Amino acid sequence: MQQNSTPTASNSARLVGTVIAVQANFCQVQIDPDTLAVGGKLILCTRRARLQKIGVSAIVGDRVTIDEIDWQGSKGVVVDVFPRHSLLDRPPVANADRVLLVFALAEPALDPFLMSKFLVKAESTGLQVSLCLNKSDLVTDIQRQEWCGRLAEWGYQPIVISVENGIGVKELQIELDRQITVFAGHSGVGKSSLTNALIPDSNIRVATVSGKLSRGRHTTRHVQLFTLPTGGLIADTPGFNQPDLTCSPTELPGYFPEIRQRLATAHCQFSDCTHRDEPNCVVRGDWERYPHYLDFLADSIAWEQQLQSQPKIENNLKQKSSTGKKQYEPKLESKYRQISRHTILQSLDELSEELDDD
Ligand code: GDP
Ligand code: ZN
Repeated sequence: MQQNSTPTASNSARLVGTVIAVQANFCQVQIDPDTLAVGGKLILCTRRARLQKIGVSAIVGDRVTIDEIDWQGSKGVVVDVFPRHSLLDRPPVANADRVLLVFALAEPALDPFLMSKFLVKAESTGLQVSLCLNKSDLVTDIQRQEWCGRLAEWGYQPIVISVENGIGVKELQIELDRQITVFAGHSGVGKSSLTNALIPDSNIRVATVSGKLSRGRHTTRHVQLFTLPTGGLIADTPGFNQPDLTCSPTELPGYFPEIRQRLATAHCQFSDCTHRDEPNCVVRGDWERYPHYLDFLADSIAWEQQLQSQPKIENNLKQKSSTGKKQYEPKLESKYRQISRHTILQSLDELSEELDDD
């Protein structure tokens, strides 16, 4: 049937897709899966000069309109970038919905303090935060239940899996459907094994991209989205794997579900309470992660002082106009509110330079 044949340049219309990889001046765009006849196809695109001129760049996760498609060569041109609903700076990912932190129940042993640090960092993105505990085959049911109970006190319901035994992987795959999920966690927990289990056809790792775009795809700075069979997209995040805390002391309490819960039902005497040694504080108490909070508070005070001694980051691009129409670029929660498009562009420029130097 005509509908199933590949469109030719002459009958192609503008199509919408998601940027799944970016390097130098190219981006790989996956056409929306539900697009008739060409859904899921990968198109290697340049950006229309007009977009380049006004400084609109496309990053991984961006929703874009493409045109001038050459179906033979799978090439096209990005002509518009949709407004983003979220933006991570490191790694640069647009429109992510959730951060999935992967930990192992054993080998390496779960470290509550490190996990807490990852959780706070993940919470600071403003995205939904989920916790996945791998290697359940290495612990007893009782140990597993103990951890789940403990984490429930922290405010999290972990997804327990064993990539080795195939436990929970299908359920996780379904859960990640229709979303962009950013994976994070330190090495050795089984993130690569999990990615491979979630995406059985590992050829999908943009292996079809030739030349410049394929170079450096194993470098740590490179971000790429992988498509799950269920349609979701996942990004592994090299930049996220060292959870250095960079948030202000006033933002920090919001990153602990336990504190959010306490402040939802009661108030401290002082509205700017740091929950350290002020009188009549409803947060201070003997809950498990309170010592972690105090530790991170000291870090965040140091971070803020350091920031105040540096020049301010430019942040004047919350409204942009790429089509003549005014476009609103949504602000993100917490520190990501302060990350301008300028910063993102810088990250990409650095990446391009790195690749050019290869
Ligand atoms: P990454 O550094 O987070 O990407 O971790 P890898 O995927 O490289 O896995 C680290 C090690 O853990 C490898 O030896 C894997 O075979 C092993 N591993 C991964 N998942 C599991 C699991 O569910 N159970 C067990 N016992 N080992 C696992
Ligand atoms: Zn307080």
